[in-house]
Amino acid sequence: MSNPGSLPESIASLPKAELHLHLEGSIQPPTVRTLTSRCGLNVSEEEIRLRYAYGNFSEFIEAFKWVTSFLREPRDYALITRDLAEYLLLQDVVYAEVTLSVGVMLLRQQRPEATFEAILRESEHFAGRGLRFNWIFDGVRQFGAEAAMQVVDAARNCASTSIVAFGIGGDELSVDTREFRSVYDAAANLGLHRLMHAGEVGGPEKIREAVELLDIERIGHGIASINDAALMDLLAERRIPLEICPTSNVRTGALALQLHRPLPAIEEHPLPQLYRHGIPVVLSTDDPAMFQTTLTEEYEHARRMGLSKPELAHLASLSFEYAFLSEAEKRALQHTPHEPTK
Ligand SMILES: [Zn+2]
Repeated sequence: MSNPGSLPESIASLPKAELHLHLEGSIQPPTVRTLTSRCGLNVSEEEIRLRYAYGNFSEFIEAFKWVTSFLREPRDYALITRDLAEYLLLQDVVYAEVTLSVGVMLLRQQRPEATFEAILRESEHFAGRGLRFNWIFDGVRQFGAEAAMQVVDAARNCASTSIVAFGIGGDELSVDTREFRSVYDAAANLGLHRLMHAGEVGGPEKIREAVELLDIERIGHGIASINDAALMDLLAERRIPLEICPTSNVRTGALALQLHRPLPAIEEHPLPQLYRHGIPVVLSTDDPAMFQTTLTEEYEHARRMGLSKPELAHLASLSFEYAFLSEAEKRALQHTPHEPTK
């Protein structure tokens, strides 16, 4: 865990919510070693750290594929859920909506029902320590609409009220947005909220399509909106949040792509511009282990981008405001007694 620097203690210790967080991107190197040894492989932590170092989006995807190839049994998912929960408690997170790559589970011919049961059982142990989870079932865009529909079917079969949303991630340049219309309608019929990764490495039109064709309620990343003033107005007017993950955007090269210049510093991230335009921003880590970041560090980055202390406190409250919870649950969670980290 690195030093959160000069983030005011009053911000660092606020109860927080994490809304854009992938379970499979949260596997710390020592846990990767446990998983690889379960598969009969002896991989050093140094090798894992090398695999977790990348300079662009496709290298990141390769690393994601590599690490998820060791997730074979429900007990493996239980282990990484425990790992993630302990990490979240260190960040004063009291609530997380965690994305599960169910599209990848199905590709590997695993049974999401058994896997999810193991995840749920493990996560429920943490309720007593002041950490609550809900879950997002995620399809992989480049696998197409039919495979995405199977993810919705899996959500139906799991029949859990803690599955709150359906989303699509992966290569946003691959399949046309409108092909997913019936998939999102099926998800909505199950009572699931609608999410999509858009405008991360794709252009602003991907965000506009997600909003206008699929009624997406929160956009994963969406930083391409800085290149389209009318879209920024639309997101602000309709109060559609962007799930902003600054370190991820630097590490995958998405920030360089959207700013049209190589190797931008994290301070050049458009978070302040988007936030001050009136677009709701929920600050997140995306894949904390794979990007070697923490939620506390993301708040420190936001501070270095120029956000004031009241603005940082407001950001923390936005992550509760735009969570898929009832108003009463949001209020209760923000006042949850939680394990203090210091
Ligand atoms: Zn993501």
